[in-house]
Amino acid sequence: MNDKLLFCLLFTCLTAIPATGLAQNTKPLTPAKIKKTIRQLKPLHKEIAEPQPGDWLASHEEKGQTFAQYVRIRPNILTRQRKKLYIQPIGEFSEKQTELIKLSHEFLGIYFNCEVETLETKSEKDIPENAQREHPSWGDHQLLTTHVLDKILGPELPDDAFATIAFTSSDLWPGDGWNFVFGYASFRQRVGVWSLYRFGDPEKSDEEFKQCLRRTLKVATHETGHMFSIQHCIAYQCNMQGSNSLPESDRQPTHLCPECHAKILYATKANPIQRYEKLIEFCNKHELTEEMKFFRTSKAKLEE
Ligand SMILES: [Zn+2]
Ligand SMILES: [Zn+2]
Repeated sequence: MNDKLLFCLLFTCLTAIPATGLAQNTKPLTPAKIKKTIRQLKPLHKEIAEPQPGDWLASHEEKGQTFAQYVRIRPNILTRQRKKLYIQPIGEFSEKQTELIKLSHEFLGIYFNCEVETLETKSEKDIPENAQREHPSWGDHQLLTTHVLDKILGPELPDDAFATIAFTSSDLWPGDGWNFVFGYASFRQRVGVWSLYRFGDPEKSDEEFKQCLRRTLKVATHETGHMFSIQHCIAYQCNMQGSNSLPESDRQPTHLCPECHAKILYATKANPIQRYEKLIEFCNKHELTEEMKFFRTSKAKLEE
C-alpha cells in the first residue's frame, strides 16, 4: 500500500485589535496565537472514547500528532503555487448526488480556506473494461481505484492544484482480494477518489439526504486533511479519527479537535473567526443543526 491509504476509514493586527480579540483581524494568526486557540477551545472538546470491538483503534496502533509535532514535520500547506482544490466527478449522478458534490465543493472551500474548482464530469465509458467489474457475488458495478488515481487523476493534476479529489456514483474496489472500499488516496501524488455509492439514497427523503450530505462532507474533509499531512487523531473526538466502518464514521464529528483545528489554521492561513462564521452560515442554510451549534460555541469561545 505504501503511501496509499484505504478509507481510513486534511503579525501584527490591523489598525485595532477589538476587545473580542480575533473578531476584526483578517490576517493569518502567528504560531503563538494559533497555540492560544488550542487552550481556548480545549474545554469544548471530549476526549476520544474507548474503542469498541471492530473500531479503528482496536486494530491499529497509532501515535497521534500534536500541533507542535505537525509543525516540525514541515507539512504540506497551501502555497502560491499549490493553492487550489479540484473536484473531478466521474460517472453519472442523480440530481441529489450532483447537489452533494456542489455542496462538498462549497464546504471544502470554507473548511480549508481555499479556492475550489469542479472539473467537467468524466464518463465511465472512457475507463477500460479491465478497470471495471460487476462484484462477483453482489453484482455491484465497481471501478478500480488504482486506475482512477494512476491513469486519470495523476497525469492530469493541474499545476496549481494542492490536490484533486474525485467523486464517483459507482462503487469502488482496490484490486484482487477486496470486496469494496469507500475511498482511496495517494498522498504523495495528491489525488484521491471517493464513492457516494454506500452513503445512502439521497433521493429518498430530506433526512436521508442530510445523512448522505454529512457523510460526504466528513469523508471529503477527513481525506483532504490527510493531504495536508494531518495524521489520525487519537486524543479527542475529531473528524481526523480513523474509521473502519460507516457506523464508526457516523459516530465521529464533522468538526476538528483543538490540535487538528490549529493545524488547519497553520496550513491554510485561515482566520478562525471568519472560518467559523462561514461554517455556521453553511450549516444553518443546510440544516446541519448540531454542527452549526458547535461552530457557534467555538466562535464564541475564541471571542471571549
Ligand atoms: Zn484517515
Ligand atoms: Zn483531532
